[in-house]
Amino acid sequence: MNTFKTTIEVAEAISTKDVKAFGTHSPEAPLAEMNIERRNITPHDIEIEILYCGVCHSDLHTARNDWGGTMYPAVPGHEIVGRVTSIGSAVTKLKVGDLAGVGCLVDSCKTCDSCKQDLEQYCLNGWTGTYNGIDKQSGGHTFGGYSEKIVVTGEFVLKVPSNLDLAATAPLLCAGITTWSPLRHWNVGKDSKVAVIGLGGLGHMAIKLAKGLGANVTLFSRTPGKEKDAIALGADAVIISTEETQMASVSGQFDLIIDTVPYVHDVNHYVATLNINGTLVLVGYLGGLEPVLNTVPLILGRKAVAGSVIGGIAETQEMLDFCGEHNIVSDIELIHMQDINDAYERMLKSDVRYRFVIDMASLKQ
Ligand SMILES: [Zn+2]
Ligand SMILES: [Zn+2]
Repeated sequence: MNTFKTTIEVAEAISTKDVKAFGTHSPEAPLAEMNIERRNITPHDIEIEILYCGVCHSDLHTARNDWGGTMYPAVPGHEIVGRVTSIGSAVTKLKVGDLAGVGCLVDSCKTCDSCKQDLEQYCLNGWTGTYNGIDKQSGGHTFGGYSEKIVVTGEFVLKVPSNLDLAATAPLLCAGITTWSPLRHWNVGKDSKVAVIGLGGLGHMAIKLAKGLGANVTLFSRTPGKEKDAIALGADAVIISTEETQMASVSGQFDLIIDTVPYVHDVNHYVATLNINGTLVLVGYLGGLEPVLNTVPLILGRKAVAGSVIGGIAETQEMLDFCGEHNIVSDIELIHMQDINDAYERMLKSDVRYRFVIDMASLKQ
């Protein structure tokens, strides 16, 4: 096993230590055990022993360089729950032994207009991803949660409610906040009618969180057979989107549609189900839409098609606190670190209900 420097430019002032991790050296290679270097804590850092790490589709796409720009070796994982093992002298937010969470962000400029409004996910100078980002302190690239420990600037560490199942809490850090942020931005509450497109990691969290906020929730599914599961998760109704009569029955109904579909798809027939002033927000797909978006219903109904990415740190904390109060967690399948390559194959077939979470104790074996 080799030990890799985070880059050629590791700053001398920052000392590092070896940490066991699971990652890959190339798009084609399966993930395997490796050692990486984490910085030793600075006065503002928190060191966390990782107990559980959720498995997000972004992990797979980054490991395989599907989006380009992956820096190798790549260690994915941005749904991290663990316990604080060490804190810098300036940290007051958490103490050693506390539960802690880390999501998709580990740093941002903290000075731009977005950051000043607690919208670090829209940092105008570029936020630092938990993995495959550039670590401002070491100059190297960041490694994610498929590892024993992580060191993160205290401001970007979340407090985790102690009453929740810890493994099932991990996916809240990406899938949870990705769906929570649009629900909050579009003011979903007791009088809202919300629809969710797709019942995967994101979709099942969207249903639970929208329901938690008191909304009436409908699932759009392309195929029958998911009704029972959707209702069990909290949905009030399921509409088969390929059935014209079913789609017509919900025409003009929804205030907000959360579209979690991760590939190119037709949004026009969903726009028809938006109420006046309604918004369809895309959270799962990056790229052009086909067929093209028809603006007629948008203009004649003041409807919007929008996008949203994760959420800021304050909003992520708000979501975790809300989940603690309402006992909301993800539905998960717990796996060992060594099963990750099989898990990726199953994710590609949507064969998971609804999120894989890695028991990081398995990395110690
Ligand atoms: Zn993610
Ligand atoms: Zn910023």
